[in-house]
Amino acid sequence: MPEASTHCTLHAEGLTKRFGGFYALRDVTIDVQEGHIHAVIGPNGAGKTTLFNILSGTLAADSGEITFENQRLEMLKPYRRTALGIARTFQNIRLFEHMTVIENVMVGAHSRSYPALWGAFFGSVLHRPFARPAVEKTMRNRAFELLDFMGLGQKMNEDAEDLAYGERRRLEIARALAIEPRLLLLDEPAAGMNPNETHELDEHIKRIRDRGVTIVLVEHDMNLVMGISDQITVLNFGEKIAEGPPSAVQSDPVVIEAYLGEEEVL
Ligand code: ADP
Ligand code: MG
Repeated sequence: MPEASTHCTLHAEGLTKRFGGFYALRDVTIDVQEGHIHAVIGPNGAGKTTLFNILSGTLAADSGEITFENQRLEMLKPYRRTALGIARTFQNIRLFEHMTVIENVMVGAHSRSYPALWGAFFGSVLHRPFARPAVEKTMRNRAFELLDFMGLGQKMNEDAEDLAYGERRRLEIARALAIEPRLLLLDEPAAGMNPNETHELDEHIKRIRDRGVTIVLVEHDMNLVMGISDQITVLNFGEKIAEGPPSAVQSDPVVIEAYLGEEEVL
C-alpha cells in the first residue's frame, strides 16, 4: 500500500442507532483513508450491517455525522449517495434473478446515471430494455468489461439465478462497480465461498482497490481480513472496541476476548 494517502475519504462520528431500547450502534466513529481497504469486524450482532445501512442511507442514525469527500451525508437519500460515488453490496445477495448476468450490471449503471428515473426505468425494463441502441451498446461494452474484470465474462448471457454461489457474489460486486464508485462497501463478500473462491475474491478486492476505489469490508473470514486490510475497526455490541492495522488488532486482548465463543479464530 502506498504511503501517500492520508486523506480521509469517509469520516463518521458519533453514530448511534437504537432499536427500541437496544443499541445496535453506540457512539461509533470511523475514519476511512482514501485508497485503503478498511475492514469492519466483530462478532455476530455487533452492528456491522447497521453501520453499512447508515453509511449507505437505507437506515437513519439517531445521532452522529457522516462526511464523505467533504460533503455531509446524513440528510441524503440512498440514491443521492450513490450519485456521489458510494456503492455497496449486501450480506444477503440481491440480484435480479430473472435477468441475465450482463443486464444485472447494466441496471447497476443506470442507478447512478438516472437515479430519479430509477422507478420508471425499472418499470419499463422488462418490456422495452435500453431503447436507444447507441446507449445500450456503450453500456453493454462497459458492463462486459466489468464482468470480465470480475471473471464472469463467459457467463454474461446466463440468467443470474443460474450462477454458482461465488459467482453470484462477484456479480453483485460487478454491479456495484457499474456506478464507478469512489467508495465501495462490501458486506461479507466471502460468505458461503469455498477457499478457492475466497482466494480469488481476495485478488479481486485488491484489483478493485488498485483501480482507485476505497473499500470498506465487513467480513468474517479472518484470513482474508488480516491479509488484505490496511486498517481494521472492531465492533462489539454496537461499540468500537479496537482499531488499528491487522497486526495490532489481531493480538489485542480486548478483541480476542470479544471473539471467545465465536467460530472464527483470529
Ligand atoms: P452484524 O452485521 O454485526 O451481525 P447487525 O448490524 O445486523 O449486526 O445487527 C446489530 C444488532 O441490531 C443485532 O442485535 C440485530 O438483531 C439488531 N438489529 C438490526 N437491525 C434491526 C432492526 N431493523 N430492528 C431491530 N433490531 C435490529
Ligand atoms: Mg451483518
